[in-house]
Amino acid sequence: MCLLGIDLGGTSIKAGLVDKKGQILIKGQVPTGAREGATAVLGRIRDLAQNLAGERGLALADLTGAGIGIPGSVDVAKGEVRLAPNLFWRDFPLREELAALLDLPVAVENDAHAAALGEMWRGAGRGFNSLIMITIGTGIGSALISAGRVHHGVFGYGAEMGHLKMVRDGRQCHCGGHGCLETLASATAMVRSFREYLAAGHPSRLPDSPGLGAREILAAAAGGDELASRVIDEAAYYLGTALANAILLAGPEGIVIGGGPAQAGEVILAPIRKYMAAALGAWQLKPVPVLGAELGNDAGIIGAARLQARVEPAEDE
Ligand SMILES: [Zn+2]
Repeated sequence: MCLLGIDLGGTSIKAGLVDKKGQILIKGQVPTGAREGATAVLGRIRDLAQNLAGERGLALADLTGAGIGIPGSVDVAKGEVRLAPNLFWRDFPLREELAALLDLPVAVENDAHAAALGEMWRGAGRGFNSLIMITIGTGIGSALISAGRVHHGVFGYGAEMGHLKMVRDGRQCHCGGHGCLETLASATAMVRSFREYLAAGHPSRLPDSPGLGAREILAAAAGGDELASRVIDEAAYYLGTALANAILLAGPEGIVIGGGPAQAGEVILAPIRKYMAAALGAWQLKPVPVLGAELGNDAGIIGAARLQARVEPAEDE
């Protein structure tokens, strides 16, 4: 069994051939070119898939099926993309179009959901049957997997933790809400908070610069900078509190944290665990593990392939 996993982003298309154990056999990436329209994007996906298969001495017809993760809202049952702003797609029948082009069965999923399936199959979530994954980036993506399956909810936004409301009258979010988690704890929010404190006169050894990112703030916090540590501590407070709330709602076996800031490791994971435990209080009957994601950019490819492995459980082990 050889599966095609596709991670379609606004900037690049990443794809790989994945075996039945979830190992990537070969992978590649090309620019998305979303502004050229859906037909051009799908054509590039097919060319990339054909090249990858060709390098392994295979044709597309030799593959079992394809899965694709996209940055947007998906109707999984219909295989349709409801809205993907980065791709300029709205109500697009992706499964039908891509299946016709590849002549393979295709499964469609949101990219954060696909990444969580990847981490559960081959990454930090191995062995879990239920987990919550949050990905800290420009915004905050999330997924809830329950009994081995992605929870979508009736409207398909099951697990949009980035828009949980954390404070009253908080920062305005692009979603129109106020005080959403991603306005307080995304990589973008960490930089904003740091700059606000600097402007208010708080000293830091880390100078402001146009390229300042969460990575620099996390490194400064790890090096003992007081202001950087304060910014990370506040973001971790909101992340830990939101995760405690999610645990009380869903009761997962584990938490996986992905995205650039999670790669900084304990400097952010340790305070998240601390605030999560504090918020759970007596409800923390047994500590729920909070783990950094392990697969990086490969999680999307592996998780997308997993969408097809799911339909053949007998071959999966
Ligand atoms: Zn929001």
